[in-house]
Amino acid sequence: MSTLTNKILGGLYGQAMGDAWGMPAYFDIDQTWEAYGGWITEFLPGPADHPVHFGLPAGRITDDSEQAFSLAQAFIRHGEVSLQAAVEGIMTWYDRVGGDTSPYVGPSTRRGVNALKRGDDPHTTGLWGDTNGAPMRISPVGLLHPGDPMGAIEDAALVCIPTHNTNVAISGACAVASAIAIAMMDNVSLDTVISAGILGAELGRKKGRAWLGPSVARRIHMAIDIVEGPGSELARLRDLYNTIGTSLSVPETVGSAFGVLVMAKGDPKQTAIYAANLSGDADTVGAIACAIAGAYAGIEAFPQEILAKLDADEVAAAYNIRAISSGLQSLIDSPSLDS
Ligand SMILES: [Mg+2]
Repeated sequence: MSTLTNKILGGLYGQAMGDAWGMPAYFDIDQTWEAYGGWITEFLPGPADHPVHFGLPAGRITDDSEQAFSLAQAFIRHGEVSLQAAVEGIMTWYDRVGGDTSPYVGPSTRRGVNALKRGDDPHTTGLWGDTNGAPMRISPVGLLHPGDPMGAIEDAALVCIPTHNTNVAISGACAVASAIAIAMMDNVSLDTVISAGILGAELGRKKGRAWLGPSVARRIHMAIDIVEGPGSELARLRDLYNTIGTSLSVPETVGSAFGVLVMAKGDPKQTAIYAANLSGDADTVGAIACAIAGAYAGIEAFPQEILAKLDADEVAAAYNIRAISSGLQSLIDSPSLDS
């Protein structure tokens, strides 16, 4: 397997694994710990009393990965990352899940899609979008720019325009895309990946509509200080939960995602375990963190039984992750993306 294939598949399966692993976690960290008697160490079903994920089977991906895969398919169809492809990717996903009545549609995406359906200019439909839909689905943009964080940052900002065209959302998306672009390189250190993420956060904050919100870059630094500090694993996760946060806020989500990534030293499965027990919007933190970890470590670092379980679920299977990987690789190899 080529390095590029190893890394693209790692990023795509990492996105799916972190998402599905965090799906059964509760919003409250103590509730998660008590309900599962400790660590979540395997795919579990959505519990009956979960406000959003009740009834979902073990190993099921959620909106995060579905949107990422739908975007990737749109980029492949269009032969490039473009505003039109971004609009099409989101609208296709929204219609497929019955977005008008679905509990999975986040507030910014719902607002943006409704405006797009009215026929509004995509440059205006995302001007209020400031929540974590932007970073949670951006991983394919990073995968398309191996070793090119500046290209990843430009394209991530472009993809945010229809639904998340605020500096706080774009900052988070650019952090994730830039980190993945560098993680795609051979023999890169995790420190270099993190530095690329912080660079993306800083450059992304200069893009889009000036909005309110703390610094994503600063939250990443703070999260790393916490996970590298003293205390048990659970104590450090609890500190991340209480200090950095895991709500729909972009600086919280992205800060915590880099935190669990560093805490797990970039190992995809351990990143998923930490993200799940971190709780809150755990599937989103997990999807982001494990997409970076997967691109960093490559698909060969994943236990086979995890990949088999992801492939066995009907939702992930319908997207055909391996076909998306081939399509992204063809796009990287095509000259149009370099122009
Ligand atoms: Mg989700």
